[in-house]
Amino acid sequence: MTPPIIYRHTTDSAARGHIRLLQLYPHDMNIYGDWGNTLVLARRAQWQGYDVELLTYDPGDELPEDVHLVVGGGGQDSGQARIKDDLAQRAGELRAWATDGVPMLVICGLYQLFGHRFVTSSGTEIPGVSILDAQTVAGPKRLIGNITLDTEEFGTVVGYENHSGLTTLGPAARPFGTVRSGDGNNGSDGLEGGRIHHVIGTYLHGSLLPKNPAVADWLLARAVEHAGGTWEPGPFNDPVEAWAAQARRVAASRPR
Ligand code: GLN
Repeated sequence: MTPPIIYRHTTDSAARGHIRLLQLYPHDMNIYGDWGNTLVLARRAQWQGYDVELLTYDPGDELPEDVHLVVGGGGQDSGQARIKDDLAQRAGELRAWATDGVPMLVICGLYQLFGHRFVTSSGTEIPGVSILDAQTVAGPKRLIGNITLDTEEFGTVVGYENHSGLTTLGPAARPFGTVRSGDGNNGSDGLEGGRIHHVIGTYLHGSLLPKNPAVADWLLARAVEHAGGTWEPGPFNDPVEAWAAQARRVAASRPR
């Protein structure tokens, strides 16, 4: 089935460019506010005068072409099990997109499946697409609460984690950040998330992008470049800057 176009926004004046945004598996992988990430990307692109086309992809859909930006969320182990066969069929295409520089943000459950595998608490292995050199094994307890990271590229990043999977990065992945407060990938090595090419995998729900617009704008910049343009944000009075700053302050002040 051809995936539905959730919406298409055309600006009044001549658009500066066109961004095709794809949300992966929203039916099964979309919890703790993850959909908010997609809305932030669409809205910030519109504020800069870009046309935005938002598509979703669920099992059995046709994977659209010319995608400039991919977003995926978290889910229960059961949701991961539901998408695994379809994901395995799409692994080659997704890997090719990642190598080609398509920016991608994958959270929690899909972050785990962008690695090599997730082994559940019952010992079942759910294979991943191996875009990130990472593997995840279910741990004995859930790691839950607000989390604050230090990142090289985006400064302080604030989010909310809720997972039992313990992720270990291999040498080909670099972390998204180091944990200032919270657990991150596994609660022991001080690392959070994984990165390669223009792919960011992370446990940070919350959702991530409303609280961390710098990450949203980085993804949009890479998307515009992938579409053949240059992201040159015009002078702009960010209408949600104060809200984002307040949300970050509150989350960072309540670690758990
Ligand atoms: N099932 C995974 C875990 O608990 C992912 C959870 C999530 O996406 N929030 O580790």
